Amino acid sequence: MVKNLITSEQNTWCMGCGNFSVEHSLKEVFAGMRDDSKSLDEVVLVAGIGCHGKIADYLNVNSVYSLHGRAIPFATGIKLADNNLKVICCVGDGDAYAEGLEHLIFAAKRNIDITVIVHDNRVYGLTTGQYTPTSPYHFKGRSTPGGSPERPVNPLSLMLVSGATYIARSYSGRKEHLAGIIRAGIEHKGFSYIEVLQICASYCDMTDSYEEKTEIRNNENLTSYSGAEEIINIWNYDNGKEIPLGEFYQVNKSAYEDEFSPVSDVNSGKTSVTEFLDGI
Ligand code: SF4
Repeated sequence: MVKNLITSEQNTWCMGCGNFSVEHSLKEVFAGMRDDSKSLDEVVLVAGIGCHGKIADYLNVNSVYSLHGRAIPFATGIKLADNNLKVICCVGDGDAYAEGLEHLIFAAKRNIDITVIVHDNRVYGLTTGQYTPTSPYHFKGRSTPGGSPERPVNPLSLMLVSGATYIARSYSGRKEHLAGIIRAGIEHKGFSYIEVLQICASYCDMTDSYEEKTEIRNNENLTSYSGAEEIINIWNYDNGKEIPLGEFYQVNKSAYEDEFSPVSDVNSGKTSVTEFLDGI
């Protein structure tokens, strides 16, 4: 019997939340993998803390609900323990760009072969509306009732300089596009970073702006660093310009786990942390 990819857990996301789009995009990608006779036993979904994190309860694949800002170290450890696994990390913008920023940068720098999907709704939704590193300038929320004096960071630009080998952006209002980007990110060998502009229906509903401004526009030469820089900097998360969606950068570099050896065991031929630990 083919198992249902959506669990029977009660879904507590607000009506209209962009998380549904990410959930169903992932479901389609997993269904496609199954149709291609790939075993979903080899998939591990790691989620951080925030509204997005409940996706670990709602998708019927191996999953780990990790700590706030620490999903990427969990994912890194899982990948090092078993190189054959497809490790997908769902994180939030507060989760990945504030609490866990250093982990995001170092995963990109190492080029560990995991796929990080950032549910970027530009607000802390679970705790009812505090500003995050990508909240719009002058964002009025629970912690900034007079408007945030901080300007948003451009996380794609940060990922480019940090060494990510796959960088793409999609939008929760374009589910088919999002599913295609997730599929491509999972297939990429190396660190894949996918930014999802996701609406928070309750505390930061950017639907009107995203519907008007987003435009699918890939970088024509995906291996061009300067081409990626140019397209990534068209929109700085606050300038009211067109918001490009698509694949912006993809290059091949050796993946961290293929070069990693436990320090004291470099010459043993053991290829995973599990083999190393078994020998102790
Ligand atoms: S608070 Fe926002 S992010 Fe959280 S479930 Fe509701 S709409 Fe979604």
